[in-house]
Amino acid sequence: MNILVINCGSSSLKYQLINSDSEEVLAKGLCERIGIEGSAITHQPKDGEKITAQVEMKNHTEAVKYVIEKLTDERVGVVKSLSEIGAVGHRIVHGGEKFANSVVINDAVLEAIEECNDLAPLHNPANLIGINSCKAIMPNVPMVAVFDTAFHQTMPRKAYLYGLPYEYYENHKVRRYGFHGTSHDFVSKRAAEILGKDRKELKMIVCHLGNGASITAVKNGESIDTSMGLTPLEGLIMGTRSGDLDPAIISFLCEKEHKTATEMIDICNKKSGVLGLSKGLSSDFRDLGQAAEEGNELAKAALETYSYRVAKYIGAYVAAMNGVDVIAFTAGVGENNGSVRADILGYLGYLGIETDQEKNGIRGEEVIISKPGSRVTAMVVPTNEELAIARETVRLIK
Ligand code: ADP
Repeated sequence: MNILVINCGSSSLKYQLINSDSEEVLAKGLCERIGIEGSAITHQPKDGEKITAQVEMKNHTEAVKYVIEKLTDERVGVVKSLSEIGAVGHRIVHGGEKFANSVVINDAVLEAIEECNDLAPLHNPANLIGINSCKAIMPNVPMVAVFDTAFHQTMPRKAYLYGLPYEYYENHKVRRYGFHGTSHDFVSKRAAEILGKDRKELKMIVCHLGNGASITAVKNGESIDTSMGLTPLEGLIMGTRSGDLDPAIISFLCEKEHKTATEMIDICNKKSGVLGLSKGLSSDFRDLGQAAEEGNELAKAALETYSYRVAKYIGAYVAAMNGVDVIAFTAGVGENNGSVRADILGYLGYLGIETDQEKNGIRGEEVIISKPGSRVTAMVVPTNEELAIARETVRLIK
């Protein structure tokens, strides 16, 4: 069966059509600047050339219409008609405490997702628009919602509560939720598979290091703690996000810089992280690595601070699980940047990890990077959130 995987943002829509039997990506693409002047669709069929077309997309429903048009196009299409799309899997950012698993979408589910809008005001409304647009174009195709937060709903109370008045949890649902759950679940499952072990018998730490970055303690197959919080701003230093801060910094800087709290949080989300630390040089680790090699001290400081934070979180999660068997790296930086991985692993000698420098030089592949006989296995496991969403979709509609 062919599954259309949709990841809808406020002005963008990413898609992949995946054959769930072969797990092959038949086509993928992106609609950009939806509702803004200059909107365009980029479409990449599996055996063909990537094409970009400037087309006016006033809203997401029009975008979905173009996606279907491209998927069924005579020249660049990969299926003959809409009837060859068996189901749609939607990535939904926030499921609050309502969703601990993926679900088949119906009216009650739509309502419940809407009730979580408050918790992710930039993302959930866009995700809902994506669902409604697909429903408008494909009213009879079953749809599934896969939540970024769901995998973390197994966290115990002691991991998700903040040290705030309890009423804020009761009244406003302020607690740790965590994100990238689909990736942490996929990678921990795959890592256990590669090692020929049962995930239920392992203590694992998954480091999802992309533009956004988070780290999760997976014990006996369940998320027991994770670094992102109420929003994706908490935890690791990221491409442009600050990660953990003393909360008093916000009001301090609001006064000094004459900004509102909302403006400061925007800076913490978009202008901080390694981008901010390097004084705007780049949020991209390739640029930073190169600048550091050329002697740029700020780039070096950004990279050092980044790795140090990851190592501290690993230490915390080793304590939380009373040990660790596997540390897995994934996402853009985790999969491709051996230098960042080596820096992080350099802090972990106390765990008996010895890095195999040659294996650590391999990029973007499943590979064990600790030396044989290491007490803890360090490995790289490329993530694939779209495939995970397609698998969930098939599992639920069968
Ligand atoms: P997103 O969170 O947007 O999905 P990614 O997982 O693609 O982000 O991660 C983006 C980061 O991955 C960038 O900092 C980039 O430098 C890094 N990255 C991606 N590909 C490579 C590569 N081939 N070599 C080194 N770094 C890479």
